[in-house]
Amino acid sequence: MKLRLGLDIGGTTVHGIAVTAEEPHDLVREATHPTRKGAEGVVGSALDMVAALRSGLPADAEVLSIGLGVPGIVHAGAVTHAINLGLDGDPLDLAGAVSAGADGIPTAVENDVKAATLGGLQWLRDQGSDIDDLALLNVGTGIAAGLLLDGRLRHGSRGMAGEIGHLVHDPTGPLCPCGRRGCLELYASGSGVRRQWAGTAAELFEAADSGNLDAARIRDELTSGIAQAISLLAYSVDVSCVLVTGGVVSATPALRNAILAELRNAESTSLGRLAGIAERVRWLPAGHPAGALGAALLGAEDEEVRPWRS
Ligand SMILES: [Zn+2]
Repeated sequence: MKLRLGLDIGGTTVHGIAVTAEEPHDLVREATHPTRKGAEGVVGSALDMVAALRSGLPADAEVLSIGLGVPGIVHAGAVTHAINLGLDGDPLDLAGAVSAGADGIPTAVENDVKAATLGGLQWLRDQGSDIDDLALLNVGTGIAAGLLLDGRLRHGSRGMAGEIGHLVHDPTGPLCPCGRRGCLELYASGSGVRRQWAGTAAELFEAADSGNLDAARIRDELTSGIAQAISLLAYSVDVSCVLVTGGVVSATPALRNAILAELRNAESTSLGRLAGIAERVRWLPAGHPAGALGAALLGAEDEEVRPWRS
């Protein structure tokens, strides 16, 4: 049995899976561990997860590759600017360190949202879709996208393709930790909502519906910010699907409906009708392990045979 391991290394937990190397990539093992921070901590957390996944495998199992998804910038195989992992100094060769500690198994590392894009594409294929271009928009603590164009993950010249959270949404808005004002992420993300609203996203929509003007403003900015991000992705790379995921959009169907209504509003013009952006939107089901699955598929992307391009 040939397998691939995928690790989604988040700021609080490492989610690891072992899947079969062939489609449909059946789940063989799964585990969740807490993340330790700093270079040594992250390498140790990843190796502990690899050991845990390998320890429970059948005797005939052969691990072809390990893939790692991390919340940071990955460029030339090195991880930088992964603040939630306590990595913001020298670039870290995470894949090299994990491979060295795991019997030399080929190991790849990628930004977590980019990795999740491969997992999202696999989910679409499981639904019978045969598309080979896709933007995955992750609305979590921040907002960022992964781009898969003509069947290949778009990494970018500096590893920053799809990092749209710090585009300026309102130049007169509040100061962002990045140093500019009114970045998209301040409105259209989990942290953007928490900055202004103490309850859940569902409670925000309930309060807005019952006449709370602050709640209505925060709701409308959240909705229009996410709709703007979807439009930006559709217009800039003309992908046939924008797959939206993340805790904020999973929280309430009211938000998903409001986003679609806003996108349909834009179809009152001839350009808007031509673009037809609302019909490109899909929602990844809550709990789908796109991050870990996509990390597992990184190994396949590095090889000549890419299973999602039959
Ligand atoms: Zn910013």
